[in-house]
Amino acid sequence: MAERRDSNSRSLLRRLRDTLALQGDGQHRLDRITHLIADSMGTAVCSIYLFRDPETLELCATEGLNPQAVHHTRLRIGEGLVGRVARMGAAVNTGNAPSEPGFRYMAETGEEIYSSFLGVPIQRVGEKMGVLVVQSKAQRQFSDDEVYGLEVVAMVLAEMTELGAFVGDHEGMGQSHRFPVLFRGTSGQEGACEGNVWLHEPRVVVTNPVGDDPDAEQARLSEAVEELQAQINDMVLGAAGLDVDHRQVMETYRMLANSRGWMRRMSEDIEAGLSAEAAVEKEQSTNRARLEQSGDAYLRERLSDLDDLSNRLLRLLTGQGRDTGADLPENPVLVARNIGPAELLEYGRSLRGVVLEEGSVGSHAAIVARALAIPLVIHTKRVTTEALNGDPILVDGDQGVVHLRPEDSVASAFRDKIAMQAEAQKRYADLRDLPATDRAGLTIGLDMNAGLMADLPSLANSGADGVGLFRTELQFLIRTSVPRRDELALTYKRVIDAAQGKPVKFRTLDIGSDKVLPYMKPQDEPNPAMGWRAIRVGLDKPGVLRMQLQALLRAAQGRPLQVMFPFIACPEEFYDARDALLRQRDREAAMGRPVPEDLKIGAMLETPSLGFAPDSFYETCDFISIGGNDLKQFFFAADRENERVRRRYDTLDTSFLTFLERIIVRSAAYNTKLSFCGEDAGRPVEALTFAALGIRTLSMRPASIGPVKHLIRRADLAQLRQIIHRARNEGHKSVRNAVTSYLAQL
Ligand code: PEP
Ligand code: MG
Repeated sequence: MAERRDSNSRSLLRRLRDTLALQGDGQHRLDRITHLIADSMGTAVCSIYLFRDPETLELCATEGLNPQAVHHTRLRIGEGLVGRVARMGAAVNTGNAPSEPGFRYMAETGEEIYSSFLGVPIQRVGEKMGVLVVQSKAQRQFSDDEVYGLEVVAMVLAEMTELGAFVGDHEGMGQSHRFPVLFRGTSGQEGACEGNVWLHEPRVVVTNPVGDDPDAEQARLSEAVEELQAQINDMVLGAAGLDVDHRQVMETYRMLANSRGWMRRMSEDIEAGLSAEAAVEKEQSTNRARLEQSGDAYLRERLSDLDDLSNRLLRLLTGQGRDTGADLPENPVLVARNIGPAELLEYGRSLRGVVLEEGSVGSHAAIVARALAIPLVIHTKRVTTEALNGDPILVDGDQGVVHLRPEDSVASAFRDKIAMQAEAQKRYADLRDLPATDRAGLTIGLDMNAGLMADLPSLANSGADGVGLFRTELQFLIRTSVPRRDELALTYKRVIDAAQGKPVKFRTLDIGSDKVLPYMKPQDEPNPAMGWRAIRVGLDKPGVLRMQLQALLRAAQGRPLQVMFPFIACPEEFYDARDALLRQRDREAAMGRPVPEDLKIGAMLETPSLGFAPDSFYETCDFISIGGNDLKQFFFAADRENERVRRRYDTLDTSFLTFLERIIVRSAAYNTKLSFCGEDAGRPVEALTFAALGIRTLSMRPASIGPVKHLIRRADLAQLRQIIHRARNEGHKSVRNAVTSYLAQL
């Protein structure tokens, strides 16, 4: 029986494929296909519905229903049984369609006489393209074999749709990847850009969905699977030196790659007439649909592993992959599910923007995108499915919005916005060599934040006074093992050299929380942001801290050096870290090496506790830098990575400002230099408020220096201070409105 079904199915698939060679347009092919399927399945009706836009399905061809309804009958996704198939990405099989919940009777089609209904999605790896339906008069459920057979047919139709086989006179029909699509994600790095899509992992194109010789296709599949298994085995061997958790992940991969169920299903698909790559895709599509529906975290992870393996297998089978030899398009915008920091760095500044389906605000990719100053939008669901290499794309990193294949009107409005920003940047460039001095003669130091050698040219270009925060973790994040001391010393030396005498505040390693090193055993902590991170790791595992301190001391080669320790929650942590640095300095001196002529040691104030530290702490610190990103999350108990809460509290809330003032007053009492280096320092309204309250140095991303300087030079900070106090005395919860109104009239 299975034999017969398979040979039947194979001959149908071959006949379907032959329609590709038919003369005439897409409509002609569709008509022929519905006829062939109805004939082969022995059903009175076969209909094909395709998406005419991402929300609407349209009846595009039918055998058996009223031909007048073709291109007239339309359904929203989720509407009726056809819409339900599309929404769920899974088959609906019923012997009594009218009794099904959600059934919608479409009078114009004349379908009232048909009881049984079988609909399967036409989809390709998570991309919904349409629905294929067969109907008959008899009240009967379709058998499992019939459902399976129709799914195989739908797979071939999906590939044909992808290849543009159904493009016809009816606008948009059968053409996937053609409509403008708007994505609402999350901003990972501000800025706007226009460019063309560059898929980090290009879509695999299956040009031969139908296999002529099942034995040959089975052999191709087996060969590719063997190669995949060999690759995974190599990965497992490579993981031998890694920690247990990492090895377990690799072992799970190996198990999945050897899964008999997976292999059996793909072999059955080949027996039914699919080519090896179409068989892999069919299983991947089913898997994706389950992945999208599943809420179980464990299952999702396994399904996601399987998805990754399917991609590898497809690349092996088709020879397509990252190294396609294609050149980056002009103004490339990288589109990916996710990307590691090292890979993103490899692309470097050639990219105009980055759009990711996953990622998080504090992810490594986000850190690198920030360092490269390219707009980044994350949480952009389905973008890799919708986008094709070379598609025009607009990235609005300020709003977290992405326009794929935008309408002309959208593109031109967007261009205006970019032009305005560029013009403003030009104006700011004119201020580059002028100080950030207000109208009354008060000068505010403007430093920049950095983390890569690639950042250093911005020091001259932006007119920053120095580097107020050099995040050293990037050198650790982009490697596969702990960097060696000499390598680090060389990098730090280059940074100091490039700064050409301007001061650089090096922050020691701030790992843990969201910044997990690939070679560090991930800590399974319930609250990693409040867990074993930053200086806590440094003091508990002093070897790495010591090595980094030595590298910094050597890099200075006798020149002045500034080092600050992150996430100091109590003075003792600072004293211990400071002692470690002084010990290393003395050791270097004892070995006859040059030591910095001036060594300044500071703490990052990132927890409220340090605002209340004893006076002796403020006295001992050479400088304090407020890490506002962390400080705010602990002050308001609002996770900086959690979209639901991260914008909930205003930085200019008077309670937070009162706390900042406390720190300002205490630092001033001991002449301890104070700066602010969180993201808020680069936001003009916040920056001017901090400056007016008495923070005399702000450290920000280079692109913010111009706008902040421009406003400081127009403002009178003492006057703004009075305005802030007045707003507070009047009982305003936040001083934002008062400050904004003042700045607006400058
Ligand atoms: C901060 O917390 O404000 C800070 C500058 O450090 P990071 O963003 O690297 O945690
Ligand atoms: Mg921090």
